[in-house]
Amino acid sequence: MRKMDRLHFMRQLGALAFGAIATNGLTGPAPAADPKRPNILFIFTDDHGRQAISAYGSKINKTPNIDRIAQEGMLFNNCLVTNAICGPSRAVIQTGKHSHINGFWKNGQQFDNTQQTFPKILRENGYQTAMFGKWHLAALPTGFDHYEVLIGQGPYYNPPMIRNGERVKHTGYTTDIITDLTLDWLEHKRDKNKPFVLMSQHKAPHRNWQPGPKYLNKYDGETIPEPDTLFDDWSGRGAAAKEQTMTIEHHLNAHDLKLSKQGGLTEEQLEIWDKAYAAKNKAFEEANLEGDDLIRWKYQRYVKDYLRCVDSVDENIGRLLQYLDDTGLAENTVVIYSSDQGWYLGEHGWYDKRWMYEESLQMPLVARWPGVIKPELQTDALVSNLDFAPTFLDICGVKAPGDMQGKSMLPILKGQTPKDWRKSFFYQYWEYPDSHRVHPHYGVRTQTHKLIYYPLLKEWELFDLIEDPDELKSVYGDPAYCKITADLKQELERLKKQYQVPERDDVYPDGRAFPIPKDRKA
Ligand code: CA
Repeated sequence: MRKMDRLHFMRQLGALAFGAIATNGLTGPAPAADPKRPNILFIFTDDHGRQAISAYGSKINKTPNIDRIAQEGMLFNNCLVTNAICGPSRAVIQTGKHSHINGFWKNGQQFDNTQQTFPKILRENGYQTAMFGKWHLAALPTGFDHYEVLIGQGPYYNPPMIRNGERVKHTGYTTDIITDLTLDWLEHKRDKNKPFVLMSQHKAPHRNWQPGPKYLNKYDGETIPEPDTLFDDWSGRGAAAKEQTMTIEHHLNAHDLKLSKQGGLTEEQLEIWDKAYAAKNKAFEEANLEGDDLIRWKYQRYVKDYLRCVDSVDENIGRLLQYLDDTGLAENTVVIYSSDQGWYLGEHGWYDKRWMYEESLQMPLVARWPGVIKPELQTDALVSNLDFAPTFLDICGVKAPGDMQGKSMLPILKGQTPKDWRKSFFYQYWEYPDSHRVHPHYGVRTQTHKLIYYPLLKEWELFDLIEDPDELKSVYGDPAYCKITADLKQELERLKKQYQVPERDDVYPDGRAFPIPKDRKA
């Protein structure tokens, strides 16, 4: 397409997308209870990267129950998070609005729970709403008929929780407990004459990756394949990639690596735990590893514990699917699995998330809806957590309010991707310098390229995702990419206008300056 044609086309596309959203007002009175209205079961985890899901081609583990959802429904190859960090991703899902609009752009903030959210709208429209597990938005959940949530991050064992405003205490493994609570609500607590939207959200597999008792010894004696980029030196990228503090080599601590005593466990749990790790830790101490061998050992310890946590998640998803099968609910329940952002499992030498680079940008997303989503479908459409709220509303027959910034994925789920579906995606991250010293950045990604800008460094990066899918070498400034760079810069400006991104990019969205890292002068 010639440049002018393309520009014209992009403008038309933008106008169409805006028009489609703007004409959708809130609906009128709540429809009468209709048992045929679909239910939604949204199963969500924290920090589950696609590399650890076999439906996405994992080379390191098997997730049969997540795979089952994908096989019986649709798998998304490009579900991109708008801001790759826990709380903000959740706030975007609740509101269908970017972080700078919903006001929750970094962890540690308090979500404005008086604002419009999709559960509130569905509740007004005759749905029962319930939420279990990790909420992580500081302010208490609103818009739910029933909730029982972890406090902050929540522990892996024996979690205190808040049930409809009251503090309660549980004993056991948190992933199992969250599923128990979800099943108990489905069986005993809900009004069976009403459709429901149920969010079952795990802490796992978030740091510090404490496996459940059942999986403590899984993968013992095995060697998990290493990613190709485990020993990346970031030489092909700018200053930001070199300044981060999220390496397997230097930044996993003794607690992460299970080399120190774990807190919060009962005597009985500790006994099982110590039995599992004592011999492994003794072997490690005797080996006296150094250099690359030590990095390799840390990778194995870290990734095995991570996968053990994922094993519990997958087993518990199986329990939920079984319940839906046993009760006949499966037929009219949309089951969705996703995680709040992607994750590094040793790629580029890292753990953690935050970056607009692929591993953290990519959320897993699979969805099953018998009779509506055809089995074994896949899509490359650029979708996002920004689209979840309008999609949930659309599935339930409720029009999305015009101020939601995402678009309903329902046509895509039905196998009919609209011709005007987005061709480019906007990303922005602010949480700097803590934790992990990942520089604030934003950018645009298309099916083939990614342009990133770091305002505090005044640096750009450009990746050719076809030629360099691992994003090892920025081609920004390469004359061969002159035209695509100019086009992407223009597209980035268009997206910033469309999403009402604040003009200044070197401060937080509310205008406050970023804190100066403690070891650096102003
Ligand atoms: Ca997370």
